[in-house]
Amino acid sequence: MLQIIFISVTILSFGILFWSFSKVFKIINILKKPYSISNTAERIKMTLKVVFGQNKILRFPIIGLMHALLFWGFLFILFGSGEMLVDGILGLPFDSDTSNDRIFGFLGYIYDFIMAAGDIAGFMILIFVIVFFIRRNFMKIKRFSGNELRHKDHKDASIALLIIMILMITLLGMNAGYIANSGSEGIFPISSFLAKFIPAESAHSFELINWWFHIIFIFFFANYLPYSKHFHVFMSAPNVYFSRTEPLTKMNKLESVTTEVKLMLDPNAEPPPMDDDIEIERFGMKDVEDGTWKNYIDALACTQCGRCTSVCPANKTGKKLSPRKIVLDYRRRMEEKADMIIKEGKSYDDGKSLYSDYTTYEEIWACTTCNACAQECPINIDQPSMILEMRRYIFMEESAAPSLINAMSTNIENNGAPWKYSTADRLKWADKLYLNDDKKTEINVPLAADKFAKGRVAEYLFWVGSTGCYDEGGIRISQNFVKILEHCGIDYAVLGTEESDSGDNAKRAGNEFLFQMQAMMNIEIMNKYGVKKIVTCDPHDFNTLKNEYCELNGNYEVIHHTQLISELIKKGKLEIDINIFAQKNITFHDPCYLGRGNGEYEAPRFVLKRLSNNFKDMKHCKSSSLCCGAGGTQMFKESEKGDSEIYEMKTEEALETKPDIIATACPMCMTMITDGIKMKDKENDIQVMDIAEIIVKSLKI
Ligand code: SF4
Ligand code: SF4
Repeated sequence: MLQIIFISVTILSFGILFWSFSKVFKIINILKKPYSISNTAERIKMTLKVVFGQNKILRFPIIGLMHALLFWGFLFILFGSGEMLVDGILGLPFDSDTSNDRIFGFLGYIYDFIMAAGDIAGFMILIFVIVFFIRRNFMKIKRFSGNELRHKDHKDASIALLIIMILMITLLGMNAGYIANSGSEGIFPISSFLAKFIPAESAHSFELINWWFHIIFIFFFANYLPYSKHFHVFMSAPNVYFSRTEPLTKMNKLESVTTEVKLMLDPNAEPPPMDDDIEIERFGMKDVEDGTWKNYIDALACTQCGRCTSVCPANKTGKKLSPRKIVLDYRRRMEEKADMIIKEGKSYDDGKSLYSDYTTYEEIWACTTCNACAQECPINIDQPSMILEMRRYIFMEESAAPSLINAMSTNIENNGAPWKYSTADRLKWADKLYLNDDKKTEINVPLAADKFAKGRVAEYLFWVGSTGCYDEGGIRISQNFVKILEHCGIDYAVLGTEESDSGDNAKRAGNEFLFQMQAMMNIEIMNKYGVKKIVTCDPHDFNTLKNEYCELNGNYEVIHHTQLISELIKKGKLEIDINIFAQKNITFHDPCYLGRGNGEYEAPRFVLKRLSNNFKDMKHCKSSSLCCGAGGTQMFKESEKGDSEIYEMKTEEALETKPDIIATACPMCMTMITDGIKMKDKENDIQVMDIAEIIVKSLKI
């Protein structure tokens, strides 16, 4: 009888779970594909590292270790749960003659090890869950609060912790009952001790009661998860497997725009065949159905841990933006609309939308695209892509970007630069440029066109970029870097007035048309001159040229100037006087698009540690570095309302290292931190210098 009851409960439980998942799969089928899901080997490796290795959760050391131990412990317990299921279907636990039989017992020592580990894990998880419960309910942890968290979310978290507590208590009770019943010393280190308190005559009933409670709570928990914030228990691993394997700062290309831009640039180009059946898609994301199925599983997988929001520079400085809210908005809006989308398709309209009814204009434009949130998320959720897709909608469908961003775009369209400077002045930075202070050797910056006319291609194209051409600090960096190239006899050239803005800022503003126009024009010129290698001082252009131009037929080996400088030092080509800055306290600001975006942390540090004996990293550095506040078009617009400016917070952290010099490797970062230093009235005590500038000051010439 008990066996029949158990089988019926199991079928019912799996049936409900299947029904819940079928709804999720229906939505996944309706939404578009995010990107190509190839690189199986790389994905498996990433899943092993992030899910099974828990490498991201361990970035928060103490609490991260507790979570990781809890996860690993669950893996052992899961094996035992699987065995319980088989045992129950076979009816073994219900008969006192067979209740001590274990179906997987034939695995011998391996089985014993897993059972012992599960027993210890059960006890450990019980303790951790009590700690988590106290932390969540009785301690004021900022990460666990926020306007985006509803009462239901807090309740969900506590319910889940209580269920886990019950599961662990019944697990230990069941194991203890088994030992008392079988009379064996057993393989359960913790439960063996508890077994001493169970009278032999009631041991079997004790074991059975705990067994039933344990399995029923597993079934209940499994079916509760899809409707709670704890859906991540199921969704985390697939979410990590399907996450992006590309650099964080790479933004996807809009294929529909490519066709139109090609036609605009070349009216003779063949238009694509017209197909009346093809549904014309909206640019960007207005509502959930414009998103990809990866956005959807991101939203289902979110644990609401708040790690993303806790590192978001906009949020830290009091702006309304919270990356956790962006993800939760998507989930909530989908919850509201899912049934009707399944019934009526993507065209269903209830008069509301994700953008504006859930996520607001102010939140969307506060993002610096620093990707700290995506970096910190323990399950690889991609919050910035949702923000940027909403910007695309605002820009391309509603033409409603902030006025300064519109002005920036118009400037790029008219002058090939985000400011109102003439294209003819693009090479002005190289006028009257001398190798040394004695002004004896004038540098004639070579043009790619001149080399090409002589049938030559320079080894490196120095991509100067708009900031490097027109911005005061950027010009200084370009000039100093050219001095290094000249000093080392590097074969290089620039495009001069043929260079146009890379389109990075247009893309981050959501203006994909302008980006692709800029990119295609630049690519045409560079391909004409046979460019193979590019070096640039601007991490934003570095990222765009390296990761985004390749999708438009611009395939180059792109390096950042700090990478070239570090190579030149290693090869002994750059002779520097290591005494000049040896006693200076130097700290370094990692540009988001160089470090977090493209994984380069060591080249700048190698150079700076060569120069100074007193190099000191800031509290948040490398992949945890705080953004300077310039990226994602922020440098071209007013910042959103908040308690303070991001550059101010960055500068304060830099000042904690008591620096003589704050080194940077990006013209925009230099501008922001210079402003921060001025704001703090420290410009007479502290210098903000690009690495190229520091190197030139230490060159042996
Ligand atoms: S990219 Fe940076 S600014 Fe934007 S939401 Fe993420 S952490 Fe915040
Ligand atoms: S998006 Fe990631 S980091 Fe942010 S709350 Fe969700 S799981 Fe945590």
